[in-house]
Amino acid sequence: LCSRLPTVGTTIFTVMSRLAQECGAINLSQGFPDFNAEDILFERVAHWMRAGHNQYPPMAGCLPLREAVAAKIGTLYGTRYDVDTEITITAGATQALFTAVAACVHPGDEVIVFEPVYDSYVPSIELAGGKAVRLRLAAPDYRPDWTAVAAAITPRTRMIMINTPHNPTATVWQRTDLDRLAELVRGTGIIIVADEVYEHIVFDGVAHASCAAHAELAERSFVVSSFGKTYHITGWKVGYVVAPRELMAEFRKVHQFNVFTVNTPVQLALADYMADASRHAGLAAFYQARRDFFRSGLAGSRFELLPSRGTYFQLARYDAVSDLGDTAFCEYLTREVGVAAIPVSAFFADGHDDKVVRFCFAKNEATLATACEKLDAAF
Ligand code: PMP
Ligand code: GLN
Repeated sequence: LCSRLPTVGTTIFTVMSRLAQECGAINLSQGFPDFNAEDILFERVAHWMRAGHNQYPPMAGCLPLREAVAAKIGTLYGTRYDVDTEITITAGATQALFTAVAACVHPGDEVIVFEPVYDSYVPSIELAGGKAVRLRLAAPDYRPDWTAVAAAITPRTRMIMINTPHNPTATVWQRTDLDRLAELVRGTGIIIVADEVYEHIVFDGVAHASCAAHAELAERSFVVSSFGKTYHITGWKVGYVVAPRELMAEFRKVHQFNVFTVNTPVQLALADYMADASRHAGLAAFYQARRDFFRSGLAGSRFELLPSRGTYFQLARYDAVSDLGDTAFCEYLTREVGVAAIPVSAFFADGHDDKVVRFCFAKNEATLATACEKLDAAF
């Protein structure tokens, strides 16, 4: 038929959230908070709407927001991105990732991704006519195998997509990982797409290793982030991408015909809200407390909890409690135990199953406590 994505079904996040709702289960599957953002943010949106800022903003995004992004990156990562030519506000990270791929990947190009891989990457590559080259991050530590990366690079490699902190494994790359990557791409034309939507959610005092902070990689990288994760507003679908001028020019050629731009009052409100740096700086401690609460709630169960070093996800190996495959186990959890989770096999093309499920702990303590009670009672 006419399908460009014949093997693609409905994303696992939609499938599991729908099932959770049908079953009245606590939804720890799709990653989003069950608590609200601060009133002040909503007040700023209303302010800018009433003040008449309801028409198209500039194609690249509202200047105050691009300035706020430039200031934040300058402070945290020491790199100055030009507000006119190197920063674009997007309809969430998803659109930034999709547009970066669409702008740069030609038919027949190879794009290296690491499995488990966030589910939007490979379809975007395939729609561009590219070929995804999947490299496996092996359980339980999910570290990249740099020898395998070196071996996978060919003259056709156009791009490498990376994600740190990593969804779904909650692993975090170090600066030395970026150094290894930089060595491997040195002297090539390979473009890096760095998905850093969880940049502010890194635990245990570790610093986020941003491609924006790595001078050599920054020269060839699109660095993507999302306000949804940082300010508890995943439904607003606003993010941004930064890149050197030449790459950003290509990005904008597609962006202008993809979404053109994203909504004005929300951008202006976010610019106001970003002025207080404690809002993103406090996020790691905020989620670390939830991580610790959730982990201690499951400590008495027979789940094996893998390390969660960043993101708002916790992986749990369940082979001590069930012989089911992870998809069937998540369905069982949702229907019978009343807690929904994501099967990690959904992030592998061949359905590779480590018997590991992903829980989202971006929830109120009461939600987490009830979920832990149910899981403890069942296992
Ligand atoms: N990348 C990763 C790794 C994510 O986890 C998510 C969303 N949870 C996105 C991209 C998409 O972000 P957005 O909602 O801003 O499109
Ligand atoms: N990124 C979120 C997650 O990993 C889901 C976003 C979506 O549903 N597309 O759960």
